[in-house]
Amino acid sequence: MRLIVIGGVAAGASTAARTRRLDEHAEIVVFERGHHVSFANCGLPYHVGEVIKDRARLILQTPESLRESLNIDVRLGMEVVGIDRKAKTVTVQDVNSRAQTTESYDNLALCMGAEAVRPPLLGIDHPAIHVLRRIGDMDKIKSRLDAAVTAQKNGKREVVRAVVVGAGYIGLEMAENLHHRGVKVDVVELSDQILPPVDHEIAAPVEQHLRARGIGLHLSTAAAAFQPLSDSDSDQRVTVELNSGVTLAADLVILAAGVRPAVGLAKDAGLVLGPRGGIKVDTHMRTSDPSIYAAGDGVETRHPVLPGEHLNPLAGPANRQARVAAENICGRDTEYQSTQGTSIVKVFDMTAGGTGATARQLTAEGVDYRVVHLHPSGHAGYYPGTAMMHIKLLFSPDTGRVLGAQACGFDGVDKRLDLFAMAIRAGLTVYDLEEQELAYAPPFGSAKDPVNMAGFVASNTLRGDLVLWYSEDFPAAIDGARLVDVRTAQEYGIWHLPGAQSSPLASLREDILEWDRSQPIRLYCAVGFRSYLAHRILVQNGFEDVATLSGGSTTFKHVHDTDNTEYEAQLPIENYAEKVSVASAVAVATGQRTDLDCTGLACPGPIMRLSGAMKEAGVGDEIHITVSDPGFALDAPAWASKNGHTLVEIEPKGPGYAATFRKGGVTPIAASSGRGGNKLSMVVFSDDLDKQIAAFIIANGALAMGQEVSMFFTFWGLNSLRKAHPPQREKTLMDRMFGAMMPRGADKLKLSQMHMAGAGTAMIQNVMKQHNVPRLPDLISAAQADGARLLGCTMTMDLLGMAHSDLVDGVELAGVATFLGEAQESGTTLFI
Ligand SMILES: Cc1cc2nc3c(=O)[nH]c(=O)nc-3n(C[C@H](O)[C@H](O)[C@H](O)COP(=O)(O)OP(=O)(O)OC[C@H]3O[C@@H](n4cnc5c(N)ncnc54)[C@H](O)[C@@H]3O)c2cc1C
Repeated sequence: MRLIVIGGVAAGASTAARTRRLDEHAEIVVFERGHHVSFANCGLPYHVGEVIKDRARLILQTPESLRESLNIDVRLGMEVVGIDRKAKTVTVQDVNSRAQTTESYDNLALCMGAEAVRPPLLGIDHPAIHVLRRIGDMDKIKSRLDAAVTAQKNGKREVVRAVVVGAGYIGLEMAENLHHRGVKVDVVELSDQILPPVDHEIAAPVEQHLRARGIGLHLSTAAAAFQPLSDSDSDQRVTVELNSGVTLAADLVILAAGVRPAVGLAKDAGLVLGPRGGIKVDTHMRTSDPSIYAAGDGVETRHPVLPGEHLNPLAGPANRQARVAAENICGRDTEYQSTQGTSIVKVFDMTAGGTGATARQLTAEGVDYRVVHLHPSGHAGYYPGTAMMHIKLLFSPDTGRVLGAQACGFDGVDKRLDLFAMAIRAGLTVYDLEEQELAYAPPFGSAKDPVNMAGFVASNTLRGDLVLWYSEDFPAAIDGARLVDVRTAQEYGIWHLPGAQSSPLASLREDILEWDRSQPIRLYCAVGFRSYLAHRILVQNGFEDVATLSGGSTTFKHVHDTDNTEYEAQLPIENYAEKVSVASAVAVATGQRTDLDCTGLACPGPIMRLSGAMKEAGVGDEIHITVSDPGFALDAPAWASKNGHTLVEIEPKGPGYAATFRKGGVTPIAASSGRGGNKLSMVVFSDDLDKQIAAFIIANGALAMGQEVSMFFTFWGLNSLRKAHPPQREKTLMDRMFGAMMPRGADKLKLSQMHMAGAGTAMIQNVMKQHNVPRLPDLISAAQADGARLLGCTMTMDLLGMAHSDLVDGVELAGVATFLGEAQESGTTLFI
């Protein structure tokens, strides 16, 4: 049997090697048009980055080694240019001499892989623009890069810049490796997210991580044209014009805009192609011609979850397909099952990947699915070196079968992805995930492994113990519902969902006594665990329509890009120095420093530890904190600003950050906030009609002048916000007495002076009408409509027996800490 293999890298070399192991007498010839056989193309980016220093280590085999060990005849620099299926011959051309020969075969294996997409853009052939597929591509990229980096080190050049077009795996690996070499990198991506094999909420934390490492990310943006930087530029640099109007100068452009299957030969030979443009094969990896097999990036294969055939240009499937092809070439009856697209990438300190179907694919194919989001630690939180990972699990609502899983994070992401991959391949259900007994000791995992946890949460939803609502359905999902944040008041104060009321889990059992059991309740916490506990409390107390936010506020921020927006405002990180320079004036450094290791603690753990340490510190003392929670970069500046401390510096470290805070003075009003002066805050204490009118006239005036307004209603001041007809609820005798004695709403307030049994109040209302001064209820509505924050003092409400439902819509509940935070950001604070 004479086997000819076209292509000598992943699938080609594997087909040849497996054939030899099964058939010692076969004649095996491999034609490879490149100058290397069986090289590690997956390692190419890491040699550019000098992580893999020795180039020779990428070359796994040579023609000589394959001849010696496997008696395979490898011919490099030989391109197959035609297939004659009738004659069972191929035409082979020497790439240097162009001399052609004809070779006959009994069996032919097509392993030509894929070709990098080169969009037909103006200037695409500029010498600074490269793709990365082979060793030769890598050599060209590296020599250009080395020259630029050396020139920069010798002071002959300013910063070296690169633009990577495409944010798939290869693009991101190149971005990281170029960054390692000191290059300023911009990544341009047409889609609104990086990493196509994962959904948006799993890509979002990786996008933040890239930005935090200084990579410029241009999403929903296309490279439109390339122009020489200037005619006289001896470095032959290029400008990349983006469709956003931005122009980037670059020493080097990497085109990583995807690949398409190399099917030219197959098409010309009349072989059948599949619907996605790849070579059609049966489960034996046989093409439409029984003597011709195909494997690797060029073929379409079945998917374990999705209908139809798919392209999955990955090294693992290429090698497995090659093995199946070889077995069938040698007379065995071996079937290739499917390709599920299991993939993984390292992006600086992060790991991300997916297996099975994404939500986008399931939706496109009309497959019904359910989703849970989790944010467990890679290993036990109390053992150093762990951080939060983000998991999305997709499963069938009917059977619970696992359809897809994606994850990103730091430690332990790879093994969870592999476990999910095995589960999908084995057809396991979420109930099976609950049952898996996985290796555990604190440095490696948790007694309830993230894979078990994913099974628990998903099974809870199928069994009806947990009903979820989803961030992408916000705000429609909370329409007519009570949106409840069950995190601590401190976490709520730092950030909360718009329209949420705070009801910490610790006090929830008391708070719900006042709530309407028939009103829908939408719960959330940071990651979904505390809200699950709250969920169970509510359901067992007779609440009829309760749902918990999948993945909590962590997923919410990823879905709504809250973090991204804030990151963009914050970055580059170096700018913190400028931002905090105003605040630095608050306290002079004493030189006393405390180190705080908060790695492994999830939000709000680090902030709470920091807060505790600050209490012990003296004014001007500094606390250096190390955290693994990536969300800390968002919370920390807000916390410092609200508490009058200075964020001296913050920089990315491992999965999280290292930051230094300096304790501030007692009342850092305005000084620590870049916004001070453009906010007006008030304490509204009185329920005298004239004072309330004055308060709201000032508030509306400030709003009209473009200021932010925050009004904290405490004690009798709250009466103006009471509803005339609040919903019925259970009340204690004391609550009923207070309720009856106090004015119920803005229309019931009295003048502070000259009330005269109501005559004075009526008179002033009449005078106001004549002078076109709006009534108090209208002033309140106008202030709310213009964005004033009306804060009801929770302490007063407790004392006077008021519930949130007693107050006009839109009033937020708040403690004194929230008000102090508002006051601190204000140029003026009034007490009325
Ligand atoms: C930079 C880079 C990083 C990657 N990283 C990963 C990773 O981390 N994980 C992963 O799973 N996958 C990765 N991949 C993808 C993986 O390398 C491919 O899926 C795999 O190599 C496909 O194997 P293949 O044999 O189909 O194609 P290839 O390995 O590309 O081999 C095809 C060969 O055929 C030759 N050829 C084509 N036409 C002819 C012809 N007419 N005559 C003679 N020879 C011909 C080509 O020169 C080429 O050498 C990476 C790819 C690249 C380029």
